[in-house]
Amino acid sequence: MSVFKRITVVFISVLAFFTILIFIFSSRSISSHYINTITSYLESDAILIRNLLKPMMENPDIEEIDSIVDRIAQGLNVRITVVDVSGKVLGDSLKDPRDMENHGNRIEIKDALNKGLGKSIRYSTTVDRKMLYVALPIKDGEKNLGVVRTSLFLKDVETIVSEVRKKLFLYFLFTLLVAFLMLSFLTRTITKPINELNRASKEMAKHNFEVSLPETSILEIKELIKNFQIMASKVRELINEINAERDGLKTIIENIKEGIVVTDKNGRIVILNPSFKTITSSDILTGRFFWEVLRSVEAKELFEEIKKSQKSEAKELKIGNNFFIVSCGRLPEGFVFVFTDITPLKQIERTKRELISNISHELKTPLTAIKGFVETLEDVVKDEDAQSFIRIMKRQTERMIKILKDILTLSKFEDSAFQLNIEKVNLKELAERTLKLFEKRMKEKGLTAEFSCEENITINADPELMEQMLINLIDNAINYTEKGRIGVSIKIFNSKVKVEVFDTGIGIPEEHIPRIFERFYVVEKSRAKETGGTGLGLSIVKHIVLLHNGDIKVESKVGEGTRFIITLPL
Ligand code: ADP
Repeated sequence: MSVFKRITVVFISVLAFFTILIFIFSSRSISSHYINTITSYLESDAILIRNLLKPMMENPDIEEIDSIVDRIAQGLNVRITVVDVSGKVLGDSLKDPRDMENHGNRIEIKDALNKGLGKSIRYSTTVDRKMLYVALPIKDGEKNLGVVRTSLFLKDVETIVSEVRKKLFLYFLFTLLVAFLMLSFLTRTITKPINELNRASKEMAKHNFEVSLPETSILEIKELIKNFQIMASKVRELINEINAERDGLKTIIENIKEGIVVTDKNGRIVILNPSFKTITSSDILTGRFFWEVLRSVEAKELFEEIKKSQKSEAKELKIGNNFFIVSCGRLPEGFVFVFTDITPLKQIERTKRELISNISHELKTPLTAIKGFVETLEDVVKDEDAQSFIRIMKRQTERMIKILKDILTLSKFEDSAFQLNIEKVNLKELAERTLKLFEKRMKEKGLTAEFSCEENITINADPELMEQMLINLIDNAINYTEKGRIGVSIKIFNSKVKVEVFDTGIGIPEEHIPRIFERFYVVEKSRAKETGGTGLGLSIVKHIVLLHNGDIKVESKVGEGTRFIITLPL
C-alpha cells in the first residue's frame, strides 16, 4: 500500500470515528438542552396562565375557562389544559373539556398537586400523540384550587432537533471533505519527490547517472535528496575507479608473459589471455574445458585435485614439448590458473646435469687409475711415514670416487629416460641380506642389530634401488651410532608397507631435519670427513622412495637416536 493510501485510510478512519462520536454526543446534548429550554418556556407560560385563572377557580365555569384557555393558547402556540383538584378538566385548548376524561391520574397533574411542579414526556390519549407536559398548581395560599398544564407536541421538538442534526451532519461531511483534500495535497507534496527519487535510483541501477533529481521544500526530503546526490556522485567516482583499475588489469593480463585462464566451477574457460592462447593450438576456447584445449590428462588431474582441496596449488605440467609451472587459485565462482613457461630453465637444468654427469664420467677413470696406483704403492713402500701419506691419499681418492658415484646415480635418476626395473621384491630377504653386509662393521663398533618383519612381504619395486636405499640408511645408522643398537623393521600398515631403519645414535638436531635430504647437506662437516660422508646418501634415498611413489619421514632426538620411516605402496 502506498504512503498516500496508508495515511488517508488511517486519517479518514480516525476522523470519521471521532466525527460520529461527536455527532452522537452533540445531537443528544442539543436535544436535551432544547427540551429543557422548551420546558422552562412552558413553565413560564403556565405561571402566567395560573395567575390569570386563579380568580376564576373558586367557582369555576367550564365555558368561561375553556374559552379563555383557547384564546391564550392561540397566542402562545402551546396546548393548555386546566383541571380542578379532583382532576376534572375545566378547559383545554385542543378539545372540548366535557368530552375529556378525568385527568387526576396523569403523572404531571399528580406531581403538580403533590410536589408543586410536574413534568413528563408521554403519549397523550386525548390527542393521540406524544407530548411534553409541564403542570403547575393554582393555589390560594396553601390551598390547591386546581392545576394548569401547558404542553407541546414532541414531534415539533423532534423536528427542530433533527433539523439541527442534519445541519451538524452536513457540517461534519464538509469538514471530512476539506480534511481529505488537505491530506491528499499534503501527502502528494511528500510522495511526489519520493516517487521521483525512486525512479532516479532505478535509473542509477541501470548505470544511468545523468538523472534529474526532484525539488522540494520539505526539509527532511531535501536532506534525503542531497544525500542521494552525494551518494550518486560517490558511486560514479567508484565505478570510474573500478573501470580504470579493470582496464589497467586487463592491459596487464593481456600483455603478461604467463598464460592466464579463468574457469567456472566445472573447469570451463570463462576468461583467457593471449599468452594462454599461444599455449593451446585451438582457436575457439571459451566455454570449453581448459584441459581439453591443452590436450593434457595431467591438467584434468590437477583440476580434480584443486577442486577437492581447499588450498591453492602449483604443479609442473608438460604440454607438448614445453614445461610449465601451473599455479591455481580458487575464485568465488571458479578457478584461476597461471601457466609459467619453465622450458628454458629445464633446458639449463638438463645441460647442467649433463655437464656434471660428463665431468663425473671423465673423472671416474683417472681417479680409479690413481686409486690403483696408490694401492700398488701401499704394497711397495715400506717406510712408515710414507705409508701414512699413502693411506690419506687412498682415503681421499676413495671419497672422491664415492662422490662421483653418488653424483652419477643422482643424475641417472633425474634423466627423463630413466626407467625402473620393476620386479617382485621380497623385502624380508632383501633386508636380511643387506644387514649381513654390515655384520663385520657392527661387530667392530660393538653394535647389536635388530630385525623384525611380520611376514614375507613382497612388493613391486626395483630390487637394486631398494637395496641401495637400505644400504644408505643402514650405513648412516652405523656411522652415527657409537653404542647401542641399530635396526630394521618391516610391516604392513594401512594397506601400505612401512620400512623403518633406526638407531640409538647421536640423533639429528631439530633445525637440521628439514634440510638433511638436500644434496651435499651434512650436519657436522668434520664428522663427515671422518666417516667419508658425501652428503648425497639421503638425497639418493629420497629419490628412490619418490620413484616408487612412496614417502619418507624422519624422527630424531639428539643423544637418543634416529628413525627413518619409509612408506611404499603394496
Ligand atoms: P652422509 O654421506 O654425510 O651421511 P647423508 O645424505 O646420508 O650424507 O646424510 C646427511 C646428513 O644427515 C649427515 O651428514 C648426518 O649429519 C645426518 N644423518 C643421516 N643419517 C643419520 C643418522 N642415522 N643419525 C644421525 N645423523 C644422520
